[in-house]
Amino acid sequence: MRLVSLASGSSGNCIYIGSDEHHILIDTGIGRKRVEEGLAALELSPADLDGVLITHEHSDHISGLGVLARKYEIPIYGTAGTLERVRQVKSLGAFPGDLFHSIRPGEAFSFGDLDIHPFSVDHDAADPVAYRVDCKEKSVAVVTDLGEYHPETVEWLADLDALLLEANHDVRMLQVGPYPYYLKQRVMGKQGHLSNESAGRLLAEIWQPRLGHVLLGHLSKENNYAELAYETVRMELVMGDCGCGKNDVCLAVAPRSGRSDTVQI
Ligand SMILES: [Zn+2]
Ligand SMILES: [Zn+2]
Repeated sequence: MRLVSLASGSSGNCIYIGSDEHHILIDTGIGRKRVEEGLAALELSPADLDGVLITHEHSDHISGLGVLARKYEIPIYGTAGTLERVRQVKSLGAFPGDLFHSIRPGEAFSFGDLDIHPFSVDHDAADPVAYRVDCKEKSVAVVTDLGEYHPETVEWLADLDALLLEANHDVRMLQVGPYPYYLKQRVMGKQGHLSNESAGRLLAEIWQPRLGHVLLGHLSKENNYAELAYETVRMELVMGDCGCGKNDVCLAVAPRSGRSDTVQI
C-alpha cells in the first residue's frame, strides 16, 4: 500500500492512496496537469483511478475536480451535503449526473482490496469528513481541515501504519500575523484548522509502535513553516509519555506544491 501527497497546503490538496490493483485520490484541489504529472511519477494515470473521494467543498480541495473527472470519467465520492455544494460551484462546470456517489460518515465502502471508512470532522463546511483506508492488515488515514478532535476521532485513528495529518498553523504566528480578526477567529475556532500543537497532541494520543510514518500537511502559507511544524509536533510526540522514541516514527512535512516521498507500508 502506498500513500503519497501530490500537493498539501491551504492552496491545494490532493493525496494518492493505492494498493497494487486499486487507486484513489483524496481531494483534487490542484489542476488536471499536476494530477497527471504526480500520478505519472508513480507510473499511474488518472484513468487508473477507482474514484476521487472528496473531504469537503472548499476550493483548495475541489478546484481541479471538474476538468479531471470529466476527462477521465472518474467516479466522485462525498457526503450528500458536500456533493450538493460541489454541484453549485459554477467554475467547476457541469458534471454528468452518474459520476456522483453519495457516502455517509461511519459507513464503509470498498474498491477491491481498499476498504474506505469516512468519518465526520469539525470544520466550517456542509458535511465534512476525513478518510481511513484499510488494505488487508495495513491502515492509513488522511485527516485535514478540522478545528478540534474528539475521543471518536482518536478511535478512528487507532492502529494506523501511516497518517497524513493537518498541522495548519502556529498559534502565535497566527495571532500576530496579517490575517484580519474574523479570519484569525475562524482558523482558531472549533470548526477551523488544527494547530501544530494540537496535531502533536493528537499524534501522542494515537501513537502506537505500528505508526511508523507521519506526514504533516495543510500548512498555512502565512502562519506556519515546515521546520516549525516539524519541531513542534516532534516535541509533543517524543517528549510526552506515549512511549514514542525519537527514532520510532518517520516524521516529514508534505510539500505545498510538489510530491512527497512515497510512504510504502
Ligand atoms: Zn476547508
Ligand atoms: Zn483545506
